[in-house]
Amino acid sequence: MQQQLVDNFNRKFEYLRLSITDECNFKCNYCLPDGYQRTHKKQFLSENEIKNLVSAFTELGTKKVRITGGEPSLRKDFAAIISSISRIPGIAKVATTTNGFSLEKNAQDWFDAGLNGINISVDSLDPKTFHLITGKNIFQKVMDGVSAASAAGFQPVKINSVLMKGLNDTNLDLFIQWIKKQPIQLRFIELMQTEDNGKFFNKYHISGQAIKDKLLKSGWIQKKPLSHDGPAQVFTHRDYQGEVGLIMPYSKNFCDSCNRLRVSSLGRLHLCLFGEEGIDLRDLLTSPADKEKLKTRIVAALADKKISHYLALGKMGSTPHLASIGG
Ligand code: SAM
Ligand code: SF4
Repeated sequence: MQQQLVDNFNRKFEYLRLSITDECNFKCNYCLPDGYQRTHKKQFLSENEIKNLVSAFTELGTKKVRITGGEPSLRKDFAAIISSISRIPGIAKVATTTNGFSLEKNAQDWFDAGLNGINISVDSLDPKTFHLITGKNIFQKVMDGVSAASAAGFQPVKINSVLMKGLNDTNLDLFIQWIKKQPIQLRFIELMQTEDNGKFFNKYHISGQAIKDKLLKSGWIQKKPLSHDGPAQVFTHRDYQGEVGLIMPYSKNFCDSCNRLRVSSLGRLHLCLFGEEGIDLRDLLTSPADKEKLKTRIVAALADKKISHYLALGKMGSTPHLASIGG
């Protein structure tokens, strides 16, 4: 019988977020303001290790994998990784989160390789502010990438935007106008505090509640959450083709709907983005013959998953920035 990953609080885990690199070519001010600095000499998980890992997870009920990083598309074998994950029996959804720098060129290839979900980070629709936030003056290139993703067949294209007081919260109307005639799902994410960004967080964090109030006042309706939505609150409006999602990790009960586990690019299992050091799985990833041992280790680890991230108490675990274990 198919095993299921269920924790002590009856949360079911069918969604794996897999980081394939911690490297990035952007300098987002909330994530890697000084750019990527390599802090280890280790190799990232190989395609073979990834295949063995995901194959064990599918036998524990995983149906969806999000490939993330760092910037996942910096890996030369990115399309090959997509293709090999998508061919593992039991996998229904292979998604990625990307900064979009090479999307215009690659969207169709990734789609054809088996990618069927894409989130593109666009923190501002104003080119200058985009440059200020990301350190890259390539707003139009990323937007051309968004169009290429729609043309390639991604349905819907999702846009991630981290909310920052005074930096992009004033762009809100522009964002909403943008999705009037386009089937895009905007996802506003509250800025999260990490080990490295404390000062930045104190200056720029803003709650998503004001957006929620504004949406509800102007005719947007909150959708009934689907089991695979996870902690996002999603809103629709009959005059808009697009949708708005809000991800508010500081809101009460945010962790109740947690449905995801993470594995870092060095093969450590993280039960929470803000949890702990991670459980090393790497010694069991080289050979498919270790699959049963791998499954046993994952199941045993899950028994330690805590009920909440305790972020509101100022706890942020040992995560220097989200690029390090895969946001
Ligand atoms: N490099 C890719 C990108 O930016 O889309 C994927 C990795 S990035 C860590 C994944 C997502 O996490 C992005 O949408 C990014 O904006 C978001 N993110 C990074 N640091 C964050 C923070 N401190 N708070 C909230 N979201 C954050
Ligand atoms: Fe890179 Fe993504 Fe972090 Fe920006 S948010 S620095 S694109 S990993």
